[in-house]
Amino acid sequence: MDAQQFRECGRAVIDMLADYYDNIRNRNVLPSVEPGYLIKSAPESAPEQPEEWESVLKDFCETVMPGLTHWQSPQFHAYYPTGGSYASTIGSLLCDGIAVMGFTWIASPACTELEVVTMNWLGKLLGLPKEFLNCSAGPGGGIIQGSASEATLVGLLAAKDKMIRRLLENDPDLDEDLIKTKFVAYTSDQCNSSVEKAGVLGSMKMRLLKTDQNCKLRGETLRKAFEEDKAQGLIPCYVIANVGTTGTCAYDPLYELGPVCKEENVWLHVDAAYAGAACVCPEYRHILKGVEYADSFDVNVHKWLLVNFDCSAMWVKDSYDLINAFDVQRIYLDDVKSEVIVPDYRHWQMPLGRRFRALKLWTVLKMYGAEGLRTHIRNHITLAQHFAKLVRADERFVVEPEPTMGLVCFRLKNGDKLTKQLLENLTAKKEVFMVACTYRSRYVIRFVICSRFTTKEDIEVSWNIIIKEVNRLVCPTQIKSKSQSISSIDFETVTISEKSK
Ligand code: PLP
Repeated sequence: MDAQQFRECGRAVIDMLADYYDNIRNRNVLPSVEPGYLIKSAPESAPEQPEEWESVLKDFCETVMPGLTHWQSPQFHAYYPTGGSYASTIGSLLCDGIAVMGFTWIASPACTELEVVTMNWLGKLLGLPKEFLNCSAGPGGGIIQGSASEATLVGLLAAKDKMIRRLLENDPDLDEDLIKTKFVAYTSDQCNSSVEKAGVLGSMKMRLLKTDQNCKLRGETLRKAFEEDKAQGLIPCYVIANVGTTGTCAYDPLYELGPVCKEENVWLHVDAAYAGAACVCPEYRHILKGVEYADSFDVNVHKWLLVNFDCSAMWVKDSYDLINAFDVQRIYLDDVKSEVIVPDYRHWQMPLGRRFRALKLWTVLKMYGAEGLRTHIRNHITLAQHFAKLVRADERFVVEPEPTMGLVCFRLKNGDKLTKQLLENLTAKKEVFMVACTYRSRYVIRFVICSRFTTKEDIEVSWNIIIKEVNRLVCPTQIKSKSQSISSIDFETVTISEKSK
């Protein structure tokens, strides 16, 4: 591909993407393909001869597109959102287009410096304590990791290193290999799978402590776990607090967990992958009460802040904890000496190489502005409240726990089996996509506002799809329903057959 073809193909791809989003409502959110559909049909070897870009794009439309789950569809209500916006795509395009590496300052000065700048901007927008910011006088700072999973693991490895150093300072004769086997990490039984996995990857026993009735890990539970383990000669080392659990978006009280960690010199990491984004709005910052106790904090900008995967914003209070743990020198990595202190981000992360991820954060922050991001968050929360209102108006359902952020959990009063059946039937129909979790041992369906395109009307479309299926499962005459569907919506206009026309 030469420069002229790049111009033509690039324009065609941008047009294609804009058309895709303009017409996203015409597609089912889930694809109609079977496992292996692409593996079986794709050529076994890469083409020997170059193909024209037109033919590659045609192939994309014919073979790749039919196998996509449309995460930006207004009927996508599963998991949590994955960020996406035109502003972010422009940043990604610039990043890929210029194709630089940023593992040292000299490798690409703007790559490091824009990351410092944008992480300071974002940290301030979220109202983080200044100790976490590069622009404060102390050793704190922010870095963009690839994922919340990486951030949790980086925190765990740094905590391990810090604890070893501290213990060796007190007793230089300690057997380092032996002490490491005694370290324990703690989190709640509501943690994301990636948190538990960090323990596996980092070879640290991870205890998933029991949460209270509201899915929160309480300070007393943590204190008790520390005491039990210390009595057995084990060493509490790392705690992961969940601010916005994946199941029900519960918030562990940092103001309870923090003091317990402080007393024992245990590293506190905050996984605020989804809900942390809401702190761009001052009215939601209460979920971070006690964050000043944290050693590290992470929010997935690539979830709810309109930046495409991968962009996970991690802040640490003392960057030397990372540098001490991960600094491995080579002569070819020597950097320029400078009066200005610039982070050597390669020591703050697992890989050596680093993409210019700050570009997409920068384009989003600039093109939306703080106000645009706040509007986006508030809009999603308002839409979730609207959905909760619709569910509550139907006597066949229970909404619980109390909806928070963009998440509404609900179930049929008729029991878990029926609720599960409802979700399975809806998934099979492919028009709306949700996943389940458990709450107080009950099976509940999670409905999350995910797409930036979602409107009130889209919520009503999703609700009518749900209701139509419920009416098949639970005889409407059996249980009186206050509102079985939204009368203003012509449901038939959004059925599968219509969409595929
Ligand atoms: N933590 C929480 C609370 C999550 O909900 C998720 C993903 O949904 C993760 C961590 C993992 O995020 P990532 O895919 O960026 O590792």
